[in-house]
Amino acid sequence: MSEEAALTPVKALKPVFSQEMIAVRVRELAAEIDALYGQEPLVAVCVLKGGFIFFSDLVRALHNENMELDFVRLSSYGKKATSSKHVIFSKDVEIDIAGKHVLIVEDIVDSGHSMQFLMSQFAARRPRSLRLAALVDKGERREVDVKVDFAGFKLTEGFIVGYGLDYAERYRMLPGVFEVTL
Ligand code: 5GP
Ligand code: MG
Ligand code: MG
Repeated sequence: MSEEAALTPVKALKPVFSQEMIAVRVRELAAEIDALYGQEPLVAVCVLKGGFIFFSDLVRALHNENMELDFVRLSSYGKKATSSKHVIFSKDVEIDIAGKHVLIVEDIVDSGHSMQFLMSQFAARRPRSLRLAALVDKGERREVDVKVDFAGFKLTEGFIVGYGLDYAERYRMLPGVFEVTL
């Protein structure tokens, strides 16, 4: 209640990526991913909550019958003003990823701290390969060395919502992506 009251109200939502643009891009990424893995055993890992819509569209566009699906949720601790550098699992995968190809599916990579944490945790479990798909890559804002193997879109600035992405838990359900004006 108090947290909601303290929220800066949203003045406007400016369209950035339409539902149609996203659908086209998801099919292109799926074709690249299918071409790489074929029917090899693959674990696709959704990063909750933001990745859930991108993940559900992407996995339904893939044709790998040996694909397993699992979910993680990350929490970051630290002051809001600085980028959060302390990340923990609030939910880990349940599937053993050792010896399997792993594809992490994330909403957006910004500073890279969240994905650096997740990828180093996963790498220690000796997967056969480890790659990252993200709907949006804010590459110019990177603070640590994290490479997005399959990027839907690149963005240099702005805070976006929709298609899984939230502003204080709102707007995740919007079918397209919008930039928030406060
Ligand atoms: P990183 O650890 O790469 O700095 O942060 C990545 C996380 O920050 C994303 O998974 C997402 O939850 C959040 N984030 C970064 N940029 C945006 C944005 O423009 N919009 C929203 N809704 N979340 C963002
Ligand atoms: Mg995320
Ligand atoms: Mg969020």
